[in-house]
Amino acid sequence: MELRSNIPSGPLEKKWEKHRFEMKLVNPANKRKYSVIVVGSGLAGAGGAASMAELGYKVKCFCYQDSPRRPHSIAAQGGINAAKNYHNDGDSVFRLFYDTVKGGDFRAREANVYRLAEVSGNIIDQCVAQGVPFAREYGGLLDNRSFGGAQVSRTFYARGQTGQQLLLGAYQALERQIGLGSVEMFPRHEMQELIIVEGRARGIVVRDMVTGEVETHLADAVCLATGGYGNVFYLATYAKGCNGTAIWRAYKKGAAFANPCFTQIHPTCIPVTGEYQSKLTLMSESLRNDGRIWVPKAKGDKRAPGEIPEEERDYYLERMYPSFGNLAPRDISSRAAKRVCDEGRGVGPTGLGVYLDFEDAIKRLGRNTIEEKYGNLFEMYERITDENPYNVPMRIYPATHYTMGGLWVDYDLMSTIPGLFVLGEANFSDHGANRLGASALMQGLADGYFVIPYTIGNYLAREKFTPVPSDHPEVRAAEQALTERTKRLLSIQGKRTPTSFHRELGKIMWEHCGMARDKKGLEQGLAMIPKLREEFWKNLRVPGSGEELNQSLEHAGRVADFLELGELMCLDALERDESCGSHFRTEHQTPDGEAKRNDKDFCHVAAWEFRGEGKKPTRNVEPLVYENVELAVRSYK
Ligand SMILES: Cc1cc2nc3c(=O)[nH]c(=O)nc-3n(C[C@H](O)[C@H](O)[C@H](O)COP(=O)(O)OP(=O)(O)OC[C@H]3O[C@@H](n4cnc5c(N)ncnc54)[C@H](O)[C@@H]3O)c2cc1C
Repeated sequence: MELRSNIPSGPLEKKWEKHRFEMKLVNPANKRKYSVIVVGSGLAGAGGAASMAELGYKVKCFCYQDSPRRPHSIAAQGGINAAKNYHNDGDSVFRLFYDTVKGGDFRAREANVYRLAEVSGNIIDQCVAQGVPFAREYGGLLDNRSFGGAQVSRTFYARGQTGQQLLLGAYQALERQIGLGSVEMFPRHEMQELIIVEGRARGIVVRDMVTGEVETHLADAVCLATGGYGNVFYLATYAKGCNGTAIWRAYKKGAAFANPCFTQIHPTCIPVTGEYQSKLTLMSESLRNDGRIWVPKAKGDKRAPGEIPEEERDYYLERMYPSFGNLAPRDISSRAAKRVCDEGRGVGPTGLGVYLDFEDAIKRLGRNTIEEKYGNLFEMYERITDENPYNVPMRIYPATHYTMGGLWVDYDLMSTIPGLFVLGEANFSDHGANRLGASALMQGLADGYFVIPYTIGNYLAREKFTPVPSDHPEVRAAEQALTERTKRLLSIQGKRTPTSFHRELGKIMWEHCGMARDKKGLEQGLAMIPKLREEFWKNLRVPGSGEELNQSLEHAGRVADFLELGELMCLDALERDESCGSHFRTEHQTPDGEAKRNDKDFCHVAAWEFRGEGKKPTRNVEPLVYENVELAVRSYK
């Protein structure tokens, strides 16, 4: 497999402009002759579908929720980055680019990250024009706050519900196009197969989740904007429905899967409380602007937080990383929390928790200001824990939150399958081995509003398309594959629910491929997952039929894919024999416990190629070249 990144030549800051000029264009009158399928209506999908339809392409958009108003993007709390430098604190496109490359521990492509930083300002302008109610300062300018891994304030926000407000903007843009007839929307339709004809992506097969009907949709190009796969860990901050099925099925049809082991563990989530918990809740990183993180200095100190005097508290992030303090990046803050808990200084009933304390901020700024900034997050915390964070510190612990890995894409966001584009969290993205806070929304909207509308035209204008007949053998084969998988899942009639398999897989993943990994543990994980998968196919029980709304069936299909994807994640983690960003191999750490990269052997993207059922996939490599930033040891001290 050839991995051609297609990075334009020329100076970094001119690449995107030059590329846009050199792209082939589709004449406005011809655009309606081309059809594009967009799977996903989150920020990346809705933004992309609306923008392409606005240009004149015929778009079909699919999501599994009952409305494009409900994708997981809606859960995003803290904010979206942009290099506007409103605070005059030294921000610039280059600084955002630099922070992102460094934050990702030098495992992202320079050219893509620079473009992301370059279009970040346009995103804010676009969203403001759509009416997104960003927080404003007294004088009327948009307000900013800080997020991890940055020493400037560049995060735009709408209280603690930025994702919801941004999505309302994208959703309205999409609805407008639906109203105009240029987007046909298919809610409650789950894509299960990709159709490839003569080597190019030409359609998808979906299951109508209400009637069970199998439908085929054909087009000239397909865009997947299907989000992240972090629910492979079962317990995660993702919406329960998030899954990896669409990208996994594309992988099995030839799309390379890049860096699957790069998963983000977010430092500030509400700790796990019990064996049967099904979901974890994020407490936004924005809280670290004002909250201070600490644990008792003494091991096993069970006193209530208010009874522990100042001198007996360890504000460990401020101590270990004085320049970034509580805003150290997520991978580093998560590992620090794990370390103090492993030392026996964790708080709460399980000992797997640290305090996020607002006492000082409330004293300094007053309760009203804190309420204005974070009110809904405090309320959410109180509803879940029955503790009032205005009076007692929050208790938090790291949890799975985001996947930096995903389908490999070139500079144009095209996968290794011609005509298959991948946007948002579903691609291997611009975040390298660790994503900085507030950069996912930026990337999803950059891909949807500002990249795909150009690059899709460049592809369509260069290719010739003839209609694919509905009885084409590839179409028939894809339809049959879906029907047979459904039948197989329903026919096992064993004893265990999809949830019980999912929970067991999640435990294996967390233990063997979680916050800290080592060779032995990964090998154990690799031995356990195939056994669990074998049991799944012998002992699964899915009640009901395939001709109705059947959530157990939907879940079973997704778990079946997670059981394969989890194995690839362990394999990728095993073969990347270094530590970088979120991928912390305990064998490779500095004396003070930081990730130790091996640039000589691993300064590359690992892109896995499916070789067939039961066969080991091939690990292809795209070397990463740094011409504009120096490959340095990442330090936040
Ligand atoms: C709790 C939480 C808070 C966050 N806060 C922030 C934040 O403050 N700032 C930030 O930058 N990032 C944040 N993130 C990350 C960010 O929200 C996500 O990375 C981003 O929203 C993903 O957008 P997306 O469009 O790629 O995918 P999603 O929003 O996940 O959308 C995926 C879409 O694909 C559809 N889909 C998936 N599979 C199929 C299929 N097989 N068939 C049909 N449709 C399918 C779904 O229906 C959905 O419409 C947060 C994440 C979480 C979990």
